Amino acid sequence: MSYDSENIFAKILRGEIPCDKVYENDHALAFNDIEPKAPVHVLIIPKGPYVSSSAFSADASDAELAGFMRAVHAVAEKTDVLASGYRLIANAGAHGHQEVPHFHVHLLGGRPIGPMVMRAD
Ligand code: AMP
Repeated sequence: MSYDSENIFAKILRGEIPCDKVYENDHALAFNDIEPKAPVHVLIIPKGPYVSSSAFSADASDAELAGFMRAVHAVAEKTDVLASGYRLIANAGAHGHQEVPHFHVHLLGGRPIGPMVMRAD
């Protein structure tokens, strides 16, 4: 799947639409999810044009990979969930129910997040 530079997170990165910024470094931006599913629900995205976790893992530079993971930690620290715990989710593709085709990790916390997934079969 090729990268669609008109996706909503690309527009946020270009400053064309606003976001509620939580953290930023050279390689990543973090902002509050517009439809929060928990008291803390932050999205962390790389600044480069990567569709999914696979594209990011395969194609990003070591500096981008490190900057992204440092951003995830910085958000956990800044939102004060390190002690209580939190969940990271990265949806990919159709079966992963990925809605926005720019790689992102959800950081959820501030309350018990519950079972990982409900078994449906
Ligand atoms: P996913 O299903 O993993 O692709 O999740 C996409 C997430 O992006 C959803 O949780 C949406 O609520 C969130 N979202 C969509 N548009 C915006 C926006 N403009 N600002 C913040 N979060 C957004």
